[in-house]
Amino acid sequence: MAKLGTRKYSLWFPLVANLLLPIASEVFAHKIAQNPNIVGAYIIFFDVAFTIYFAFRDGMRAGFISTFGAVLYYFYIVFTRHYKGQQFFSAVETIFMLALVYAVIALIIGWLKERIDTLIQKEMDARRLAEEGKVRLQTILQQLPVGVLLVTADGGLEGNKQTEKILGRKIEKTLPMDKGYLSPYPYRLNNQLKQKEWPIIRALQKGEIVKAEEIEYRQSDKKRLYLRVNAAPIRNKNKKIIAAVSTLYDITQEKEAELRKDDFVNMASHELKTPLTSMKLYIELLAKQLGTYNDEKAIRTIQRIKRQTEKLQELVNDLLDVSRIHTGKLLFKQETFQISDLIEETVETLQATTQGHKIIFAEKQPFLVYADKFRIDQVLTNLITNAMKYSSENKDIIIRVGKEKEYAVVSVQDFGIGIAKEQQKKIFDRLYQVTGNTEKTFPGLGMGLYISREIIKRHKGAIWVESEKGKGSIFYFRLPRVRSGN
Ligand code: ADP
Repeated sequence: MAKLGTRKYSLWFPLVANLLLPIASEVFAHKIAQNPNIVGAYIIFFDVAFTIYFAFRDGMRAGFISTFGAVLYYFYIVFTRHYKGQQFFSAVETIFMLALVYAVIALIIGWLKERIDTLIQKEMDARRLAEEGKVRLQTILQQLPVGVLLVTADGGLEGNKQTEKILGRKIEKTLPMDKGYLSPYPYRLNNQLKQKEWPIIRALQKGEIVKAEEIEYRQSDKKRLYLRVNAAPIRNKNKKIIAAVSTLYDITQEKEAELRKDDFVNMASHELKTPLTSMKLYIELLAKQLGTYNDEKAIRTIQRIKRQTEKLQELVNDLLDVSRIHTGKLLFKQETFQISDLIEETVETLQATTQGHKIIFAEKQPFLVYADKFRIDQVLTNLITNAMKYSSENKDIIIRVGKEKEYAVVSVQDFGIGIAKEQQKKIFDRLYQVTGNTEKTFPGLGMGLYISREIIKRHKGAIWVESEKGKGSIFYFRLPRVRSGN
């Protein structure tokens, strides 16, 4: 039935057909049929057929039209054939019986037909909506300025235009796993990245959720891109991974600007370093010469100039370190030494620079570490000077050394302004300083803790803080201990 599911029912066709049927029946009865006894059977057969056909074609109402047409025709027969008495009554009775049968047929078949149409219609609507949704989603994906890549568990691959632009080639429909399709030339921190190390493959195979991972990617024409990649697995109802999706942002321009900035900072700090070194030498020379004149005021002034020059030098060195960290050029000269000895030296040096704070090395323990002495001194100095900077002069600063499994743990405690919980992670980020309406501003650029974290991280250690606002902070760092001699 061509009209199945359309619900466009016509009542004209059943009306006309049911008008023509009695005419055809009359012609048949009077002109064609030889045996008048079978005419009735033929008529009933056609009426049943019409009722079924129209109910199924145009629904219940069309079925009832057939029923109504047949009943009218039967009355026409009864009156035109002049039935009388008993014959008339039994004819009318038969008509009612047949009318009932036809009506039931029209009702059941018409109702079924309408149900089927409704169901088919619903199904088609749902399918159309899904189709439209798919097209809409695909259009959005195609137009997105980020690359979107989808890999299914059986290796099916889909990607938008931006992905093709980023990868520098057409997306194949299947992922040739063995050929390392995703990784002809991708790198991360200058190391080649195998296909199974790509975020999307890790999401697919291990269920990892990868957030903002930066990788370098070299297109086949050697053009180098920096990408920021996110990836996540897609699971079915049973939590089984069926696919993974990944977004790729091209951050090359951002990255290159950052590298140019780092280059500039690096160059500028190098340029500043040389004149500063000579300045300090001349100041020391001048101080020595002034010493012979016994001019207290001049000596104090020159000491202040010296201290300010040293501060400038520290700042320039920090700037240099930050750019070294960024360009991967922070190098270490490692040796084995007693961490407590180093702390003692650092405390002594720093104690000499302050009259107010008392720096107490409370718990000494003889732990050997294998590290860059100069750099660990830098971390210690940074933590202790911060402790002095962020606590008032009459407060003590307490340093302790302890052990935790295979690590030596150093802590620097102050009783100063403290750090709010939500700031505690951020203070180790580059150029991060706690500022707020109530915060007093302290001089500094927020580089110290960032450099310290990088130094400790590169020594396979960790650095963290415990603090309560208004009560003080304890900064900890740990370094792997050297077993022998402990
Ligand atoms: P700087 O001290 O030059 O601003 P740092 O990287 O050493 O930079 O420190 C980052 C921020 O962490 C500081 O600006 C300060 O807000 C906070 N901070 C560091 N040490 C302490 C401390 N001992 N007590 C309170 N706040 C601190």
